[in-house]
This record gives sequence, structure tokens and C-alpha cells, in this order.
Amino acid sequence: MKILILGGVAAGAKAAAKARRILPDATIDLYTDDTHISYSACGLPYYIEGNFEDYRQLLVRSPEDFEKKGVHIHLKNRAAKIIPEAKQVLIQDLETQRAFLVDYDKLIIAIGARPVIPKIKNVNLPNIFTLRKIEDGIALKEKVLKSKHGTIIGGGYIGMELLEALVKQNLKVTLVEYAPNIMTMFDDDMSKLILEQLNSINDGRFEILTSELVTEFSGDINGVNAVRTGTGKEFSTDFVILCAGVTPNVEIAKDAGIELGLTGAIKVNEKMETNIQDIYACGDCVEENLVVSNTKIWMPLGSNANKEGRTAAINACGGEDKFPGVLGSAVTRCLNLTMSMTGLTEKKAASLGYNPVSVTVTKNDKVGYMPNVNNITLKLIADYETGKILGAQAVGAGDADKRINSLAAALLAGMSVEEFYNNDLTYAPPFSPTIDPLLNAAQLLSGKVRQKEY
Ligand SMILES: Cc1cc2nc3c(=O)[nH]c(=O)nc-3n(C[C@H](O)[C@H](O)[C@H](O)COP(=O)(O)OP(=O)(O)OC[C@H]3O[C@@H](n4cnc5c(N)ncnc54)[C@H](O)[C@@H]3O)c2cc1C
Repeated sequence: MKILILGGVAAGAKAAAKARRILPDATIDLYTDDTHISYSACGLPYYIEGNFEDYRQLLVRSPEDFEKKGVHIHLKNRAAKIIPEAKQVLIQDLETQRAFLVDYDKLIIAIGARPVIPKIKNVNLPNIFTLRKIEDGIALKEKVLKSKHGTIIGGGYIGMELLEALVKQNLKVTLVEYAPNIMTMFDDDMSKLILEQLNSINDGRFEILTSELVTEFSGDINGVNAVRTGTGKEFSTDFVILCAGVTPNVEIAKDAGIELGLTGAIKVNEKMETNIQDIYACGDCVEENLVVSNTKIWMPLGSNANKEGRTAAINACGGEDKFPGVLGSAVTRCLNLTMSMTGLTEKKAASLGYNPVSVTVTKNDKVGYMPNVNNITLKLIADYETGKILGAQAVGAGDADKRINSLAAALLAGMSVEEFYNNDLTYAPPFSPTIDPLLNAAQLLSGKVRQKEY
């Protein structure tokens, strides 16, 4: 059996390792246009922040580790064309430019996503970075260590993490966001709160500009040195990081007749099969089923990519495995602020035809007399008609993520808000108040849901 894997970061590397364990005698080849495989892109902001000095700590398995297990890794080799009728892939060696065909019995596409480059005048100047791959991280960190001011374009997850990284490296930072809020995947009230809380801990080291569209960079052959916005703001900078989102790498799949989904990412079933026999896809290049609403979503996250890579490999090797989908759980941190969410936001729920009701509570995350007690603001959302929990968002200096993780389990189980209120959550003063903020919220929300007469 010949298993061919395209892409080798989270999904591809996981698929290769799993396939090797299941089929010790299969021929497994992994082709990637990258210079590294099996790394934690998620750790790049923390490398830039200076939490550790050696980028190699981000590398999970080396090509040599894979070769020892008989998985052949081909770095700097791009898949240029998939030919399903011949069960072949055209590969281009990026160093020699040689193109050649490789046969497969089973093909696993794990070619991920790439940063969106916004249309801004002079966006190709030197010292304008994106952050996706190991080289990006190395180059950016080198520049950060020599700079005094950095500009971040985009206030999403990666923008937030980089804001913290640059501030902790003692740079002044300007973050520019086109939307009226940052972290717009949250409901507007929570996004506003995030901005307020960040501004409240700002001691002049950073500035967050919202409703500002960057229209132009200026500079010379040495690199960018100024940023201009649509409202006429202009400021100097030493470098820029574009954090304007990512887009799935789907072009070679689409050209081969592989169906894309509504989100624009590759459409797969629970077995990670595409519409073409013996071709599987996983990771950031595919869309997922959003379990809460049974609708499609594109959630390009490492947590999902790993699970999907595993499922793709099991099925490609003749086994039976299903990846039922995602809940939309995510977390990040910026300075002392944790931001986490799962399930549907209120705005998303309404757009899908639910009748959402919500409560927002702000509480201590531990008993008030304990050291390190902090606030969290928790928003809990349920469907007015059925009482089912739809989602939650938590923001604050306190332990937000553990509340979201408990709620995620309830979402997966399809619990109503009343059922959740009876949940037996742990309590001791260093960990939570007697009644956890989640249960406070659930109690209040079940009151709102119950107003309906069934
Ligand atoms: C800065 C940063 C922080 C992040 N933080 C988090 C986090 O905290 N939590 C979380 O869950 N996720 C996080 N993510 C997302 C996570 O890193 C991705 O979801 C994960 O890397 C996806 O893995 P993948 O294998 O599907 O795709 P990718 O990581 O995109 O890997 C795809 C690989 O395929 C290669 N490739 C592309 N096209 C071809 C081709 N035609 N031929 C051959 N090879 C090709 C690419 O070069 C790449 O090496 C973060 C990402 C970044 C960039």
C-alpha cells in the first residue's frame, strides 16, 4: 500500500505517524513545500515574546525521526497537481525545479492555510511580516530584538498574542483594526469589554486603533518606516506584522475536482473523505461540522488539525474512525487578559434562526479572600425555545478557560441550561467561589428561559 501525504505540520505529521503505527509495511511518503515539518506554529508568538530562546523547541518530530520509522519526508517539494484518474500527484522540487509524478493508493491532503495579504499600497516592502512558518518566526524575532516600535495589522487571535509578545520585548506597539472592535469573533459586548480591559491595563506601551483602515506603507529598500490610515493618521514604525486572517490552501484540490464546501475550504465527511475515492483531507484546508447547530464552519486550529489527521490516517489505512466535528472552542491571552469561547455567539445563533437569550455575569474566579483572585466576565447563551445551551464566552484576568472547557462538555452533550445548573463542579477557595460563576450564569439564564410557557 502506498500512502502519500501532502503537507507536514499538524495534520500531515499526525497522519504520517498514525499511518505508520497502523500499517508497519506501507510505503509512506510525505511531501511538503516547507523547510520544516511537525512544528508548533501556535508557539511562535511565545518564542517571539522570549519565553524560550531556541526555536527548535517548537519542533515536535524531525524528518530524521520519521525516516527512522520508515516515513520518507521530502522537504521543499510542492504538490503542483493532483491527477485522481491516474492516482498520481505531480510534485515540483523547489530546489532543482524538477517536476515528477508520484503514485498513490491513498492520498491525504494536509496543505493547511496561508496568511491573507491585505491590499495595502507598498505591502511588499521589506520588514512587513506574516507569521505562519518557522522561518517567519525566526525572521520576525530577529527584527523585534533590534526594534523600538512595531505595528500589528489585525486584532484577532494572532494579533492579540503578538501585541503581548512585542510589549514584553519592551517595544512600543500600535495595533490597527479595521472593524469597530477587536476580537470580533466574540459578541460585540464582549469585544468591547476586551478593548476596555486592555486599555485599562495600558501604561502607554501600546495603542489600539479601531475603525481604521491601513491604506499605505511608506519606506525604502531598507524597509517600511511609516504607516498611513484612511482617516489620515500617519505614524513611524520599524516593522509591520500582517495578522489579517488566513485562507485555506485549496487550489490544487479544486483543480483536481475535489469539492469545496460553503466556507470555501475542502468538503469532507466524518471519515475525512473527500468526494473523490481514496483522497482524504484534514487540518486547516478542510471545513468542519459545527456540532451545536449542525452547520458548516471553518475552524483552522491546531487542536482540530491533529484530530482530523488521525481520523484521516485511520480510514486511509482501512480502519473505521469518525471525526464528528467541532464546538468552536478557542482561547488566547493578551497580557493579563484571557479570552475564551465555545459554541455559538449570540449574533451567530440569531443568524442561524435560533431565538437566543443570554446573561452576562462578572464575578471573582476564586473566593475573594484568596491571593490572586481576579474577575471574569462570563456570557452564557441558550435557545429560548428549547432551553439548550448554545455557547459561552469568558473574558478576564481570572481563570476563564476552565469555565469554557466545562461548558464545552455540556454543549457536546446537548444539555439544557437547567441540566447544566445541576452540574457538580469542584469548589475550594483557591479554585473557585462556592458557587462557580458558570453556575451563577446558568441559574440566571434558566430563569430567563423558563419565562416561556411550554
Ligand atoms: C502564530 C500562530 C498561532 C496559533 N495559535 C494556535 C493556538 O493557540 N491554538 C490552536 O489550536 N491553533 C493555533 N494556530 C493554528 C495552528 O497552528 C494551525 O491550525 C495548524 O498549524 C494547522 O495545521 P495543518 O497541518 O492543517 O496546516 P499548516 O500548519 O498550514 O501546514 C500545512 C503545510 O503544508 C504545506 N503546503 C502547503 N501547500 C502545499 C503544497 N501544494 N504542496 C506541499 N506542501 C504544501 C505548508 O507549507 C505547510 O507546511 C496558530 C497558528 C499560528 C500561525
